[in-house]
Amino acid sequence: MFASRNLRLCTKDCMCLYVCPTGATDTETGQIDFAKCIACGECVKSCPSGAISMVPDKYPVQQKKTKTMCNTLNLISANKAQSEVIAKRIRDGTDDPVLEQLASALVRCNRLMAEDICRESGYMLPQSGNVRKLLEDLLAMDHPDDFPRDAVERLLSMMEFNE
Ligand code: SF4
Ligand code: SF4
Repeated sequence: MFASRNLRLCTKDCMCLYVCPTGATDTETGQIDFAKCIACGECVKSCPSGAISMVPDKYPVQQKKTKTMCNTLNLISANKAQSEVIAKRIRDGTDDPVLEQLASALVRCNRLMAEDICRESGYMLPQSGNVRKLLEDLLAMDHPDDFPRDAVERLLSMMEFNE
């Protein structure tokens, strides 16, 4: 386990800096220094913003997914993807600013729902074979010059896949 700080929730420079016994929370980047973190959890208890969570560094071996479950997930995801496409068409084809905003929200929420469905069902856990394939496929594709190839290669070398 180690502590991870959500920078969007962190209001900066308060409790965790004082309670951390190793100084792991006091970094220039705002990220917790994993090399110093001893997973005591004091920062999580002290944070007034709920900005820190303990996350595992090793995940359990995943359960096998049944064909029925995979088929159901595919069906629901396809439905959400279709709704996203329809919302995009509405957003791009209207002059009404209110409708444009509504359609934009629908584009985003359909994408998020599809991602949540896959994640919550354990289909996109970091250690899964699906994620490894996704990263490998990303490396095999053509990308603009600013594509962070190094980061993808680092993830592939660092992550322990166990499926
Ligand atoms: S879990 Fe403990 S050691 Fe790690 S950052 Fe939080 S307070 Fe510091
Ligand atoms: S205690 Fe929470 S809000 Fe305060 S600096 Fe730490 S992470 Fe940020």
